[in-house]
Parts: sequence; C-alpha cells; structure tokens
Amino acid sequence: MQAPHRLSAEKVLEHHETSFQQGLSTSAATRLLGVYGPNELIEKGKKKPWRILLAQVKEVMILILLAAVVVSAVLQEYIDAIVILVIVVLNTVLGFWQEFKAENAMAALKKMTVPHVRVRRDGAEQQISAKDLVPGDILLIEAGNIVPADARLISAANLKVQEAALTGESESVDKDTGALPDGDLALADRKNMTYRGTVVTYGRGEAVVTGTGMQTELGKIATLLQDVEDEQTPLQRRLAKLGRSLAMAAGLLIVIVAGMIYLQGAGVKEMFMTAISMAVAAIPEGLPAVVTIALALGAQQMLKKKALIRRLPAVETLGGVTVICSDKTGTLTQNKMTVSDVVLPDRRYSLAEVAAEHGADADLGLLLLTGTLCNDAVIDENTPNGTLGDPTEGALVLAAQQAGLVQRDLQTLLPRVRELPFDSERKRMSTVHALSPPSQGTTLHPVLAAAVQQGQADHLVLTKGATDGLIEVCGRILINGAIQPLSEKKKAALSAENAAMAKSGIRVLGLAYRLMTVAELDQPAHYEQDLVFLGMACMLDPVRPEAIESVRLCKQAGIRPVMITGDHPLTAVAIAKTLGLTTSDTVLTGQDLDKMTIDALSARIKAVSVFARVSPKHKMAIIDALQAQHEVVAMTGDGVNDAPALKSADIGVAMGITGTDVSKESSDMVLLDDNFATIVAAVKEGRRIYDNIRKFVRYILTGNTGEIVVMLTGPLVGMPLPLLPIQILWINLVTDGVPAVALGFEDAEHDVMNRPPYDPQEGIFARGLGLQILVMGFIIGLMSVGTGYWFWDGGAGSNAWQTMVFTMLTFCQMAYALCVRRRTQSLFTKSWLGNPMLLLAIGITLTLQLILIYVPFFNIVFRTTPLRPAELGVCAVGALVIILIAESRKLFLRHKQH
Ligand code: ATP
Repeated sequence: MQAPHRLSAEKVLEHHETSFQQGLSTSAATRLLGVYGPNELIEKGKKKPWRILLAQVKEVMILILLAAVVVSAVLQEYIDAIVILVIVVLNTVLGFWQEFKAENAMAALKKMTVPHVRVRRDGAEQQISAKDLVPGDILLIEAGNIVPADARLISAANLKVQEAALTGESESVDKDTGALPDGDLALADRKNMTYRGTVVTYGRGEAVVTGTGMQTELGKIATLLQDVEDEQTPLQRRLAKLGRSLAMAAGLLIVIVAGMIYLQGAGVKEMFMTAISMAVAAIPEGLPAVVTIALALGAQQMLKKKALIRRLPAVETLGGVTVICSDKTGTLTQNKMTVSDVVLPDRRYSLAEVAAEHGADADLGLLLLTGTLCNDAVIDENTPNGTLGDPTEGALVLAAQQAGLVQRDLQTLLPRVRELPFDSERKRMSTVHALSPPSQGTTLHPVLAAAVQQGQADHLVLTKGATDGLIEVCGRILINGAIQPLSEKKKAALSAENAAMAKSGIRVLGLAYRLMTVAELDQPAHYEQDLVFLGMACMLDPVRPEAIESVRLCKQAGIRPVMITGDHPLTAVAIAKTLGLTTSDTVLTGQDLDKMTIDALSARIKAVSVFARVSPKHKMAIIDALQAQHEVVAMTGDGVNDAPALKSADIGVAMGITGTDVSKESSDMVLLDDNFATIVAAVKEGRRIYDNIRKFVRYILTGNTGEIVVMLTGPLVGMPLPLLPIQILWINLVTDGVPAVALGFEDAEHDVMNRPPYDPQEGIFARGLGLQILVMGFIIGLMSVGTGYWFWDGGAGSNAWQTMVFTMLTFCQMAYALCVRRRTQSLFTKSWLGNPMLLLAIGITLTLQLILIYVPFFNIVFRTTPLRPAELGVCAVGALVIILIAESRKLFLRHKQH
C-alpha cells in the first residue's frame, strides 16, 4: 500500500478491510492481534537480569573479595578461599534477588498505567487496553490522549496535536482529514495522520489505525532512544557519597592496622588478610540494596492504599512533603454534581419546580436545551451518576430530562455541526447547531422560530461556562421572552447574584446562545461574540467526608493543604472552609497572579491557601513561589495542560479515574481513586519508609563502627587479630544484612503524623544520628574486645577468646536491632512483637551463630571453638547491657518530651 497519508480515507479503510461505522469485528481484531502482536514498544530501558547481576559483581567490595579468594588460593589457604567465595556468591545472589524484586515491582507498577483507549468494534464504542490495538481499528481520540498508534484521520473536530516526541516541534499542529497525494511529505506535514506518542492538545477525532507497536514511526526510532538511567533518591545519592568517603577512610585504616600488625611481627599473608577484613568492616556494602528494597516495598504498600508510584524516588520524597496543592473538584469534593436551582434573569426555579414546569416556561426550556446540547455527557443508566462523561455536564443533561427535554431527540432536531471544546483557559464551551424550520409536533422558543421563519438565521450557537467570563462576551439578555441589551449595570447585578450563590459553595454555570448564518460557520472566533445571556444553573458538589479528616491530619503533621481550582473564588473559599482548610477569606485568583511577580507571590504565598479561577499555567507560578520558600510541593493535575506543573512539582500527582493520559505520563504518582485522602495516606507511608531507612542506616553503621573499634583496639592492647577475615565477612553480610532488611518492614511510629516534616535538606546523620552511631558503635566494640581480652590466654593456643569476640558482637547487634525499632518508644511494651519479620531475622541470625560455634564442621571453617554455657552467658549479659543502655537513652528522651 502507498503511505496512508497519500490515500483517501476510504482507500485506507478498504485496505484494512474495516468500516468507519462498524469498525473491526472482535474476531477479526483477535486474529490481527495474532498477526501483528501487541501494540508495545520493545523497551530498551528495562534492566535485564544479567545486567543486574553484572552490576552486583562490579561492586568494588565484591572485586576486593574476589581478589582475596585468589590470593588465599595462591597462599594455599584453601578453606579461606572457599569460604570467602561462598560468601561472595551468597551475597551476590542476595543482592541480585533484592534488586530484581525491586525492579520487577516497579515494572509491574508501570504496567498498571498502560492507558485504555476508545475504539469502535462490532459497531459499538468500546474501551480496550492500548496494547490490544490492531491495524484497522477505528480509534477515537480527544484532548488529553497520548496517541496510542499511528492512524489515518477520518474525522477531526478542531483537532490539534503536539508532535514534539517525533518532530521536536512543541507548538501543536492542526489536523484534518483530506488526502495529501503529492510529494514525499515530512512527518510534521502529514496533517491527516496522527502518530504514536504524540499528544492531543485540543478537539477530537476519529482515525483508522495503520501501524502498531514497533511498526509505528515512534517504534522505528525507539531503538535510538537512550537507555534510561536509574534515578537515585537524594538519600541514595548521599549514601553513595558516604560509601565513597568510607572507602577512603577504610584505605587509611588499612594502612594503619597493617602497619601495626607488621610491627608485631606478622607475615605478609596475615597483613593482607587483615587489610581485606578492614575494608569489609568499614564499607557498608549491604546498605544501597537494602534502601532500594525498602523503597520498592514502600511503593507496594502505597499501591494497597490506592497510590500508584511511577518513580521510585517519589517514595522517599513523599515523606518530606510540606505543601499539598490539590484540585478541588473530584479530589476534595465528590464530583457528584446535581443541579439544585435554575436562575433566569427575573425568576428562579428549584429542581422540583423545573420538573413541574415541563415546557410551560419557554425561557427555561431554552436554557435547559442549551445545557443539554452544549454538552458531551450522555445518559447511561449503568453508571452510578446515571450519566457518562463530565459530571458537571451530566447534571445538566439530567436536569433537562426531568423537564421532559430528551437530549437525543434534541440532537436530531438541532444537529451539532461545529464546536469549540471546553478548555480551562476560557472556562467555557460552545457548540454550533444547524437550525431548520421545526417540523410538526416540535416547538422551538419563539425567538428562534421567528428568526428561522424570517430567514435571518440558519445556525444556533450554544454556550455554557463560568458566569463571570461568559457575561463579558454577552451583549444581550433574554428577559421574559424578549431580548434586551445587556447594560453594564445589569452585568454588575448578574455578577453580584453569581457571587452570592458562589459564597454558599455552589458551582454556578452561565448559559447563553446566539443566532448565526452559514457565512460565519468557518469563523470560530465569531461564535462567542455578542451572545444572548439566558441564565444560570446552580450545582451542588458535596465535599468528600474523608477529605475533612485528611485536611486535619495534614495540619497536625505540619503539612499545608492548598486548594487550586478553576472555580469561582467564593465557591472555592466556601468549600475550603467546610473542609477546614482555611478560616480566612483570603483567596488569590488567576488574574491576581497574572499581575504578580514570583517574588511578590513568594512573599505572600505562606498566607494563602486558596487559589481560584486559575488555569494550568498558574500552577507553575505557584510551584515556583513555594519552592522559592524551600517547600517540598505535591501538586495534583488531571488536564492536558497540567503536564509541566506535574513535572516541576516535587511530587506530581495525577488522577487515575478522570486524569488524561498526558497528566499520568508526567506524574510521579497516580491516585487510583482521585482522592485527596490517598495523597495524605501516601505521605504517611513515605514518612514511615524514610524513618525505617534511618533505622537500618543506624543499625548497619553502628555495627560497622563496632567492628572497626574491635579491629583497631585489639592490636593496640597487644592482642592478635581479634576477628578473622571470614568472621568479619560473616558479621558484615549476615549479622548486619538480615535484620536490616527486616527493619524495612517496621510499622509507622505512633507519632509519624504528629510531627512536622523533616527539613528536606537534612543529611543522613541529621538530628544527632552520627554521634549516636559512634557512641553506640564504640560501646559495642569495646565490650566485645574487652571480653576477648578478659578470656584471652595470652597466646596459649585456644581461640575460645576469639569466638567470644565474634559471638559478643553478634549478640550485641541483635539486641541493638530490637532497640532501633522505635525512636523513643520503649522496647518493653507489647508492641515489641509488632514486627514478626525482625524477630524471625534475629532468630535466624542467632541460630546460625550457634551453628557456627557448635557444629564441628564450622569450627574448622570459621576457626571457632564451642563455648561453655558460662561463656555464652557472658555474651547474653553483654546483649542485656546494650538493651539497658539504649533503653535508658529512650527513657531520658521520653522524659524530656513531657
Ligand atoms: P478544579 O480545578 O478544582 O478541578 P474545576 O472543575 O472548577 O475545579 P475547571 O475544570 O478548570 O476547574 O473549570 C473551571 C470553570 O469552568 C468551572 O468553575 C466552570 O465554571 C467552568 N466549567 C467547568 N466545566 C465546564 C464544562 N464542561 N463546560 C463549560 N464550562 C465548564
């Protein structure tokens, strides 16, 4: 076939053996899916298992250990060589497994955001997964969609598409349907095609799919796409830096200790093995893997709470959020709109009265007709609201229906020929309808009927939108059946009435119309000019009860909730007050923001919690101003224009139900239930994870400090090497590693949402952690080496003293793991059973230690000696001492708090 853009739409349909009205049959689609395969790009970014493995093996630590294996073998220390090798293999497998699990968890989360697309199959509109699209499908696209496949347009209404992904051009281009038979056009000029990966920014269209998956233009260049680099969280970056510093420090220590050993008259072999042990003791090699797994586990927990994480670092950032900017409609409110009143210029009707009126009031009839025809929602009894589409529009369709105006009948009577879709800048929408003399049995409003009869008009523009903006484009008003000029005075009166209603939290939509001739049909700029104002529809949208609780929780947790809405300022303030989000009447509007510099806004932003009548571009200004104040900002968004704000917020939050593909694609997190409470739940989870990361950083680094202290002080007091290299390896990889992973499962502290967020700039060792690690590490180290000294026989031959050092260190660390669970809460409460994973990890580690001491085979391998009960008892007492010290500190802290 020729390139589809050169052919007429009919030819393309014919080629794909499909029809515009019917689409493919389900059976044909299934067959084609078999032929063409799923509509997916083969991702280059995803890490293959062997690459994860390679990354593990490339770790400096592993390389050092492999060198040790070789050297040991050369020195004919075969047991050491084998043991180190086994430990290396175990460690690599463990690290690989953790990374692999984390990677898969994230891939699974990503899969959940594969968009659904609308197609026509078997003559009916259906939603299918974008993966199941096949060439020949009739695809329906609208503003906010990311085009899922290459397709030839068959119909287009104001369709604009942004094709930067393919052409680099960031301006949207207009699309239409005519064939372009001449020449070899560049992609950017193929106006009758839409391509995978481009974004529909305006209007809508219908198209026949011509290419899917790797056969799309994007697929052809996808192989050129760069591999995605792993993104690290701030904490991970700091840890990597810490790792490098520790490696340097280790280098220095090695020289010192090796020197000391040499002075004591040891051989080269012993020096070498000691150097390796020191390196292992000093570098917390398990840490990065444990952090990754904690973040991935956190992402899974968040999913259970209906927050889908798209970027792993978001898990950590969420814990530090200081401001949550949220849309109002649907997130803080239920988005269950019902029309409560209809207000005409000189009279008003409640919904019950509207129903009772049933055609008697012609002006009311015209207003309701405007509401139901200038509308993309449809009645659908299978949905909870009774309508499908935007709930604001659905409410209008239902209200009209109650008064006996059936949307479908009216659509036949006044077919839509053009439209200006709703957008959040203009805050209104217009449709143009062909107006023909009414047939028998139908009635038109007298002003319309007269105009048609006299041949003055053949088209009708219907407009609805935010009242304040709408009256600006109205020149006339329909009062009691007669058209009058709309004076400034009248405009002011309407605005005041609008404001009075908005003040009670009601959403008000204005409605207007205009008669027009066919000559103006292709001049869309004329549609919304000199309109005739009809009246207003008032709608109630109850707040989400759970949002009230979440707002309270936010405040208690030192997080500021901010409402950002396109609605009227007074409606916004009224609802913000109901939610407890603010007590003041302060509100900034989009117009106010337009007049302010970022500096001026930064200065005021602390005192403003409600922004109204804003459009997406204002969200950027708000983020900039907040970030200038060092706030960590979560920002919600659902529309096609929200993408930049979602990207520049610290946490971009998209709506899973009502959000556009583009907004989801630009977000860090998707709310599967569109609910504000879910953001707060995710923040709580983020804080828990961050706390847990600090807990195992504390645990692991304290252990490492203890080991170094042992290795340094032993030779100082004239003892031989207190721990053998394989013993240190064991402690570092098993004793440190296993409980650390389990600490990642720790529950939230009782006060996670009772304290302000931590300073986002704080380092790993903030709030005294560094000092505590050193102190506790020294205590554990000195106790272990002291015990060794006590039992040392001065070189008589037994190595029981060494086994004592080994066991003491292990026991003390296990005891400390129990204390680390809670920051200030006592270990001796019933919650000490709260983390079964940790108890299991400690149980396993202790059992392994006993095996190492008491099983003869391991006595040989690990150079251990079975300890007598009294000796084991000494180690147990050591563990108790650690618990006493750590718990006394907590007791002191608790005392200070009260
Ligand atoms: P939020 O930004 O909190 O979700 P919102 O729904 O009020 O609130 P927008 O969708 O930007 O924000 O709407 C802004 C205004 O545009 C509304 O207050 C309303 O007056 C008007 N409006 C909303 N939906 C429509 C629509 N479908 N047709 C015409 N006008 C609309």
